[in-house]
This record gives sequence, structure tokens and C-alpha cells, in this order.
Amino acid sequence: RQSLKIGLVPADGIGKEVIPAARRAIEALGSDIPKPEFHDLVAGFEHFTRSGTALPEETVRALREDCDAALFGAVSSPSRKVTGYTSPIVALRKELDLYANIRPVVSVSADPRGKPSIDMVVVRENTECLYVKQETMIHTETGREARATRLITERASRRIGKMAFEIALKRPRKLVTIIHKSNVLSVTDGLFRETVRGVPKLPEVAGRYDNVTIAEQIVDSAVYRLFREPEIYDVMVAPNLYGDILSDAAAALVGSLGLVPSINAGDHFVMGEPVHGSAPDIEGKGIANPIAAIRSAALMLRHLGYEKGADRVDNAVNSVLREGQFATPDLGGKSTTAEVLDAILKRI
Ligand code: NAD
Ligand code: MN
Repeated sequence: RQSLKIGLVPADGIGKEVIPAARRAIEALGSDIPKPEFHDLVAGFEHFTRSGTALPEETVRALREDCDAALFGAVSSPSRKVTGYTSPIVALRKELDLYANIRPVVSVSADPRGKPSIDMVVVRENTECLYVKQETMIHTETGREARATRLITERASRRIGKMAFEIALKRPRKLVTIIHKSNVLSVTDGLFRETVRGVPKLPEVAGRYDNVTIAEQIVDSAVYRLFREPEIYDVMVAPNLYGDILSDAAAALVGSLGLVPSINAGDHFVMGEPVHGSAPDIEGKGIANPIAAIRSAALMLRHLGYEKGADRVDNAVNSVLREGQFATPDLGGKSTTAEVLDAILKRI
């Protein structure tokens, strides 16, 4: 690659504060990555209230045709139903077929040479389960009755399974834990469990995952063990809803949502996205933690194969966290977004 074309979609709230910070971190890498070329793109609830569309076609086109990768900030999604509004992040995952949401959760050790006590990756299926959003409401004699469709396909379970095994291969422990509830939902979760378990036996991967250990855990007990003994997990793979909840819960174990990055990945595109939302309570105050967004940029680079650039960003972030001098209020500090960013840029 001559240049790396990155779409920037800050969207709503603190997305507009943390995405520019992530851009600065990428720019600081110099020749460790191809020359970055940024495309500023719009989406989000605020854009919807101005224009009537949350995800302009031009944004989707530009991401698809002009960009190698993207960084997405956060959207504000109203919990009441707003006519005509659908979440642009959910739509983008679908439009670009970003079927895996990958969220590493790592604690920072006080000792730079020490091992982090929590070091796991949640691999969440990103396209189906209850998030197909087929909900209906009927009126009965005893009141309203709401129903939702939960879709689990073999195809989606297989590709998310493969993604989890691929990630496990690159990690020292090489352990994949399948999260499900097939004791109750034997058809849907049963299919997910059975399909992921079957991945190493597929002819096209013959022998590739021989060194990967498979474990499984019912989702409720998985949450229990996640809080009591998080160190037992390496790679967790889960259907959409369980994965969503597990990855936010896991984020709480390492301090703040403001630290946890993710990528949405497909076979042809990758989009970094901090796990947190638009944080309306701190919007505009200049105190949003930029680390989740900056780490999302590092993950995006790593997924594209730029390990060295990604390592430089991650090491800089880890030093700042360990030193503890620059920390935003969500971590108990008094620093601003700009001060934390500066400290990270200096260490890159
Ligand atoms: P949130 O993640 O926006 O905020 C939860 C809490 O964490 C808030 O107190 C917030 O101040 C704090 N926080 C989050 N990120 C932070 C950061 N970088 N630095 C410092 N503090 C941070 O979740 P919420 O309040 O439940 O939702 C707010 C809006 O965001 C809602 O409209 C929701 O729909 C949306 N949301 C979007 C996404 C997404 O874009 N993927 C994810 C979650 C929520
Ligand atoms: Mn979530």
C-alpha cells in the first residue's frame, strides 16, 4: 500500500472528541505505516435530527469505495422509538458485512514486565441473534404481547467460530470458550454451540486448529465466573446479545468503559470503535477518556497487519496508564482529553 485510506465517522457526543484524538495517534506513527489519508464522514442521531437521515448514502459509498478501514465514534440512540431513525452503527455493520465484533479486555500490570491478570478477547457475532430487530406487538384480551425473532444461522456461527479460532491461534493460551444457553434454548443456542465446536473439523481448515483447546460455558455461569476468576478466559465466542452484555461486563473489570476498544471486522473491511457510547453526561467538557478510541485505532492497524505501529500505540497507552500522572476523571484523575492525548503522543 502507498497510503492507508481511513474513514473517520465521529458521529455523536464524545465521539467528536475522541476520534480526532485517535487520528492524532495514527499520524504520530510516521513511516511505521503507509501514509494515512483521512476521509471525514458524517452519521449519527444529531445528523438525523438535522437532515432526516442517520446514515447518508455518501458515507456508506465513501467507506466502501474510497477507504481501506474506518474509525467510528459513538451514536446516541434514543431508547424511545423515533420514527425513521435506525442506528447507523447497526446499519453499517450490515452494509459492510462486519460480522465480528472483537473486544480485547486487558488489565494493565503495575510492573511493566509483569503479566496482566486479565487478558481476554470477546468475539461477538455481529449480524444476527435478537439484533435482527424483528419485533411485533399484538393486543390481546389480557394486554399487549410483544415478540421478537432470534435468528441463528449455521453460516454466521461458522464464520464467527473461525474468527475466534484464528484469534486464539495467535495467543499463547490458545483457548476458545463457547458461550451459550443451549440447556434452555436447545435449537438456537444448540446450533451455535454445535457449529462452533465443529469448526476445527471442517475440511478447509484441516489440522489448523489442532493446538486450540475448546471449552464451553452457559452464559449466566460465564458471567459469574467472569467476575470471580476472569483469568480462566482467553477467547470467548458468543452470539450477538450475550456477547454484547459480556463484553461490557468484562470492560467493568478493567476500570472504565473509557479504556475498552473494539473492531468490527469482516473479510474485506475493518472498523475500529470504542465500546462506550456518546456519554451525553460529559459531552463538551473536554474530559472524555480518549484511550478506548486510540486503542481501537491500534486494533484496526493490527488487524490490517501493521503490528509495529499498533505496538507503539499500545505501549504508549500502557505507559501513561502505569505512570498514572495523566488520567481523566473516569479513572479518578483530573486530566483533560487533550492532556492525556499529549502524554500518549509524546510516548509514541
Ligand atoms: P455511555 O457509554 O455513553 O456512558 C456510560 C457512562 O460511562 C457515562 O457515565 C459516561 O460518562 C461514561 N463514559 C463512557 N465513555 C467514556 C469515556 N470515553 N470517558 C469517560 N467516561 C466515559 O452509555 P450510556 O450512557 O448508556 O449511553 C449514552 C448514549 O450512547 C445512548 O444514546 C446510547 O444509546 C448510546 N450508546 C452507543 C453505543 C455505541 O455507539 N456503540 C454504545 C453504548 C451506548
Ligand atoms: Mn454494548
